[in-house]
Amino acid sequence: MIVMKFGGTSVESAVAIERVSSIVRQRLAQKPVVVVSAMGKTTNKLLAMAAEAVAGRRDEAMRLHAELRQFHLDEATKAIDAVDLPKLDCILEEHFVELAAFLDELADLGEFPPQYVDLISSYGERLSSAIVTLAFRHLGLDAAHVDSRTVVITDRRHTQAAPLYPRTYAKLEKIVKPLAEKQVVVMGGFIASTQDGFTTTLGRGGSDFSAAIIGAGIGASEIQIWTDVDGMLTCDPRILPGGHRVKLISFGEAAELAYFGAKVLHPATVVPAIEKNIPVLILNSRNPSSEGTRIVGDRVETTNIVKSIACKKDITVVNIRSLRMLMAHGFLRRIFEAFDKYETPVDMVSTSEVSVSLTIDNTDKLEEICTELRHIAEVKVDRDQAAVCLVGDNITHTPGISARVFGALSKVNVRMISQGSSVLNMSIVVAGPDLRDAVEALHTEFFSTIDPEVFG
Ligand code: ADP
Ligand code: ASP
Ligand code: MG
Repeated sequence: MIVMKFGGTSVESAVAIERVSSIVRQRLAQKPVVVVSAMGKTTNKLLAMAAEAVAGRRDEAMRLHAELRQFHLDEATKAIDAVDLPKLDCILEEHFVELAAFLDELADLGEFPPQYVDLISSYGERLSSAIVTLAFRHLGLDAAHVDSRTVVITDRRHTQAAPLYPRTYAKLEKIVKPLAEKQVVVMGGFIASTQDGFTTTLGRGGSDFSAAIIGAGIGASEIQIWTDVDGMLTCDPRILPGGHRVKLISFGEAAELAYFGAKVLHPATVVPAIEKNIPVLILNSRNPSSEGTRIVGDRVETTNIVKSIACKKDITVVNIRSLRMLMAHGFLRRIFEAFDKYETPVDMVSTSEVSVSLTIDNTDKLEEICTELRHIAEVKVDRDQAAVCLVGDNITHTPGISARVFGALSKVNVRMISQGSSVLNMSIVVAGPDLRDAVEALHTEFFSTIDPEVFG
């Protein structure tokens, strides 16, 4: 058995879904369980209409609602058999009527609590999985739909829920595994539910994580993540096009890249895969003959010390300088308590005798955090910064790597450095406008010659 996950662009239209069906058809012998994301940019559109409703602009919310319904109707009509049109009508009616009722509730509430974020955003995968099932049947695949919310069970941390593994695995083993012996199971990624049946989601980009959870639960021999690029590349193509394909990478390296911004993989994906030692492949649904990237449990030896460069834009650096001359005992604890209190994760930290700089992604509670910190320190906030992260096995144990990094960056002002806490990475922070130059310089330095065994 294998899990094949198709992301938003891979199911964005009738044509794309047809491509997916032929990729699946060629792998029927491996008994695929198919996990799909919402079609195209549906999740963003759902959140946008909810934001309009919350702001009291019901008309605009309903205009976006009608537009999204029409989009699903148009693409699905082209993808399914004419005899299934009444079924499609029922599916759309049921989902979009419910959705409209929730938008109304949000307009009355005037706020957007996390339970509602999950409810609203769940419609994307609920619709796509139902539509892909009908399309598969039309295209000759014996497909069965399973609502992921009945088998992927999580805690109650809405918008960032974590799976309750034993329960989830038991359900997957009991329900999905036997079904997949006979039929192509189609499930929505991203969505799940609590034990008492409330809809939750695994966080943005979470369909990759769903695929890994499902793969681990059914004992899959492989988890395939089908997307819109040829695999993991040596740099983020949105920042710098022209990177090389990484053919082989370890779980640890892939997790680090994902965590530091390589959107191609959700950072939690590797957790269930590592636990059950299931290889993860990243493949291109528009170029299925490309071998993609294979993520494996073993170390990947190569002469290229850096495997890939990840980046995160729009991060914020918080500079905190103690009001006392020398760093007093308890200073770091008080700093981290402030971030902890407001549930704001800190990514990078660097310290000196009297000051600490750290980076955060989420600035929702920054005002509150700064107010607390100002009791003990001077605080300065720099927005529009970017982190660049070099990832490679044993990077910190390689002599001369810092000299190469700083040599390459001789024209860029490096704001922060973090090295040594993980053997796998070295990270720097630069001003947002310097990001592309920094990535280009580092890419030239580390990938001018490549090991053909590991890079494509
Ligand atoms: P999907 O909808 O299939 O889940 P995503 O948009 O989430 O696709 O992820 C794929 C995108 O990740 C690519 O189109 C690419 O722009 C981006 N990306 C960022 N860093 C990398 C990287 N190192 N290698 C490949 N893609 C990357
Ligand atoms: N549709 C969800 C999102 O856009 C999950 C995913 O695509 O992985 O975040
Ligand atoms: Mg994704």
